Amino acid sequence: MNLILLGPPGAGKGTQAKRLQDKYGIAQVSTGDMLRAEVAAGTPIGREAKAVMEAGQLVSDDILVRMLGSRLEKADAAKGVILDGFPRTVPQAEALDRLLAGKGLKLDAVIELKVDDAALVDRISGRYTCAKCGAGYHDTFQKPARPGICDVCGSHEFTRRADDNRATVAARLEAYHRQTAPLLPYYRAKGALQTVDGMADIDEVTRQIDAILAHLG
Ligand code: ADP
Ligand code: ADP
Ligand code: ZN
Repeated sequence: MNLILLGPPGAGKGTQAKRLQDKYGIAQVSTGDMLRAEVAAGTPIGREAKAVMEAGQLVSDDILVRMLGSRLEKADAAKGVILDGFPRTVPQAEALDRLLAGKGLKLDAVIELKVDDAALVDRISGRYTCAKCGAGYHDTFQKPARPGICDVCGSHEFTRRADDNRATVAARLEAYHRQTAPLLPYYRAKGALQTVDGMADIDEVTRQIDAILAHLG
């Protein structure tokens, strides 16, 4: 099963992708996580991407398409992938079509998480993750059961992303509406687009996604 989770920054793509990964045993592919790893490692891609990401803009299609192409070569991708944060432009979507076709794979569904812009600022500014295992949390909406202790791994260390601040959110939302939203008609025209109410609480969004996947042929 190959899925795309599509939605603005803070919509809940990563949260739902992790749940799908655990439930269906298919790999979450987060291009944002991959880019942050390149930045942390100081690779040539990371050096090129760092300032662009901190400004809330999109890294070049060329870099992203090459990164995704090599990710799909890895063994775990053969069972299927949940794309979280890719594609983000029409040229990336066209490249993905070619990459999948070249491997004899198909796209099973594109699931849009629809969330109002006003809610995204709060989602993004309250987001943090476990520094050890990457589990995602929120200051208000998804607190660990015991304050300051990761539910998954027990770690006491958490991190916040450099770009998760109110100043950058506006640029990221603008990039979403201008460059990524055109993917909605692109996938609707292919009959692949399904929309869920991303304003609902986390468990309800999961139920809506499960219902869609249950009806896939
Ligand atoms: P994305 O990957 O789309 O950028 P995340 O999954 O990281 O979004 O979610 C952004 C923040 O909002 C996280 O802190 C997460 O805990 C929280 N969150 C995710 N889904 C919901 C939801 N349905 N309702 C409230 N908060 C949510
Ligand atoms: P969010 O879901 O909160 O927008 P991501 O972790 O998906 O955040 O992405 C963080 C940043 O990484 C983006 O703002 C952008 O600069 C870069 N990025 C991630 N995926 C892509 C992509 N497919 N194309 C271009 N830039 C990307
Ligand atoms: Zn943890």
